[in-house]
Amino acid sequence: MTMKTVVLLLTRDLRVHDQPALAAACANAERVVPLFVADPALDVPDNRRRFLLESLRDLRDALRSRGGDLLVRSGDPVAETIRLARAVGAEGVALTADVSAYALRRQERLARACGRERLALKLFAGVTVVPAGEVTPSTGGDHYKVFTPYWRAWQAHRWRATVATPRKILLPDGLTGDDPGTVLGDAKSESPSPMPGGESEARRRLKAWLPQAAAYPDRHDDMPGDATSRLSPYLHFGCLSPLALATTGGLPDAYLRQLCWRDFYQQLLAAFPNLGLQAYRPNADEQWKDDPVALQAWQAGATGVPIVDAGMRQLAAEGWMHNRARLITASYLTKTLGLDWRAGAAWFARLLLDADVANNNGNWQWVAGTGTDTKPYRRFSPQRQTERFDPDGEYIRRWT
Ligand SMILES: Cc1cc2nc3c(=O)[nH]c(=O)nc-3n(C[C@H](O)[C@H](O)[C@H](O)COP(=O)(O)OP(=O)(O)OC[C@H]3O[C@@H](n4cnc5c(N)ncnc54)[C@H](O)[C@@H]3O)c2cc1C
Repeated sequence: MTMKTVVLLLTRDLRVHDQPALAAACANAERVVPLFVADPALDVPDNRRRFLLESLRDLRDALRSRGGDLLVRSGDPVAETIRLARAVGAEGVALTADVSAYALRRQERLARACGRERLALKLFAGVTVVPAGEVTPSTGGDHYKVFTPYWRAWQAHRWRATVATPRKILLPDGLTGDDPGTVLGDAKSESPSPMPGGESEARRRLKAWLPQAAAYPDRHDDMPGDATSRLSPYLHFGCLSPLALATTGGLPDAYLRQLCWRDFYQQLLAAFPNLGLQAYRPNADEQWKDDPVALQAWQAGATGVPIVDAGMRQLAAEGWMHNRARLITASYLTKTLGLDWRAGAAWFARLLLDADVANNNGNWQWVAGTGTDTKPYRRFSPQRQTERFDPDGEYIRRWT
């Protein structure tokens, strides 16, 4: 059925390529109103706020070049969507589905409000390769608790087809877009050297990195080599479609496996909404020590353990940290210092451009031994890790 007007509520799907919600809105409605609502309840830290602003500006350019525009509001996303839908006489609302407890509440509230207003709400896939809950263990249960069987099922599963980028996007007559900066304010990065945001930058980076992809299995742990794709912030904000990425030719299985970890934690969060608050493994939370001085030294990169300090300084400088360094610094905080993983996850969440409820807490719990690691007592020795992954001390020197 063709509708006259649909409001597309954007969240962390900030792209025009392989964007199922946008593509469907354009295919099913004559006019599409792309809307982003800065939600004060989310309290986005400065690093991600700046990345978000750049991503929204880039998205606005992409929409405008196709004849559309981006509307930006501040407030409760449900109230703002309904207000705008009324103002433009919309018949439907499109939204990319997400799984955090907050996103689910927002979806439910939106569904109720749309019901009251007689607006058709439609949810679309887009934040993962395989939507959470779409593959479940044949042995029962609503999610996979262990990665390797999930990886097998994920590979065997039939993925949705990617969707075409709309060529033309038409706003209702008389409606104009907004500069996201006027709503998000002066978003100044806390880290001095962060990656720039936006879909254009994501696509440029992917293209530049692809020739190195074949070397990923050998080089992804090479700390000074910095040979991973650095696409995580773009995946977090949806500047890049994880499915389009996964179906890009030339990616080795080792890389797809990492993308699968991302989906794995998403399905874990969907099934266990308290992932950021509570140990996933029953009774796994220890008596964590309370030592604010040790915590502060870890945060500041001043523990005196060179590889740990280097990682923490990379995080502060770039708002990003190499995966191997994340493992080492997190293991040091929880298993060596005996401090609570939640304090570590909170510090990462403040600074990381890619900080994600699912990935951040899922990985922290894995390292702390409270999550899905099948060897929960393993500890990464900083010395051995340095010998293996930074043998010449180049990474340490770079971040000292
Ligand atoms: C304690 C800790 C906290 C972490 N917090 C986050 C977080 O908040 N957000 C986040 O995106 N990643 C997180 N990770 C996972 C991983 O470190 C980053 O995704 C990766 O370093 C990003 O760099 P990249 O894009 O170059 O990765 P690549 O090696 O190029 O991998 C490609 C993509 O696969 C995904 N991926 C890779 N490793 C993992 C993993 N272990 N778990 C889930 N997805 C993965 C990411 O989306 C990444 O962009 C964390 C890891 C640890 C140990």
